[in-house]
Amino acid sequence: MDYILYEEPLEHIARIVLNRPEKRNAQDSQMIYELNDALDRAAHDDTIKVIIISANGPDFSAGNDLREEDPNGNMLNFKTVGTWTGFKDEGHAGMMAREKEIYLGMCERWRNIPKPTIAQVHGRCIAGGLLVVFPCDIVIASEGARFMDNTVSMGIPGSEYFTHPMELGSRKAKEFLFTAEEMSAEDAHKCGLVNHVVREDALSDYTLAMARKIAKQPLFALKLAKEAVNGAEDAAGRSASLNIGFALHQLAHSHCMQVYGMPIDPSQVNPAALKGSKYSK
Ligand code: ZN
Repeated sequence: MDYILYEEPLEHIARIVLNRPEKRNAQDSQMIYELNDALDRAAHDDTIKVIIISANGPDFSAGNDLREEDPNGNMLNFKTVGTWTGFKDEGHAGMMAREKEIYLGMCERWRNIPKPTIAQVHGRCIAGGLLVVFPCDIVIASEGARFMDNTVSMGIPGSEYFTHPMELGSRKAKEFLFTAEEMSAEDAHKCGLVNHVVREDALSDYTLAMARKIAKQPLFALKLAKEAVNGAEDAAGRSASLNIGFALHQLAHSHCMQVYGMPIDPSQVNPAALKGSKYSK
């Protein structure tokens, strides 16, 4: 794997590290499939009871890699986890197929891994970066961590895996999306996105200690406890609202394609941020 490290820092604990620091862990198709492979490895290993996802470099994740060349064509290089396919189809079909596979499909798959997962977040975690954090069961953040979903500034109503209302509560989710501003670790803690905020230099040890505490429990009971909480969320309408959020996200991409000739509205975006990407004209 080029962009992901797989470690076992203690017995029964896997740590999967986003390791593309020079790109601030911006995720392209390859990185997402590598992350999925690493999570599958930990899920399939019966000796592993807890999975940590952490990151190397200054930021947890800068989001999706907008500079990936031919992301839809690249889909043919990977063994897909879903069956929608049609990644090269014309109109909006190809783009929806890719986002259904690589964002919605992957996130839901990771959320349903029947072992406790912990996101260990430092630095910035932007838009697509949230798609690694939201599916995790527990989130530990350093004091300087910041969260942001700036998709509304790009004409899109939230990232593809739309669990924002469940993560933040409806009012904070609206503020988070409407303003597209950074949320501090402390604010994220107040609204329930983050379990604990710790000093930067204590982040790794604190997360590992939490994982060790959980790993002492019987695995089957952990699996059932996770299934019970996830089941409660789904019974409260999580799955249905996820699909509504995804459908509206696709509507926005299709609208932007008709109006701007690209799947986002570039008018509010700093041109430097799009330079060299498929969104620069
Ligand atoms: Zn999208």
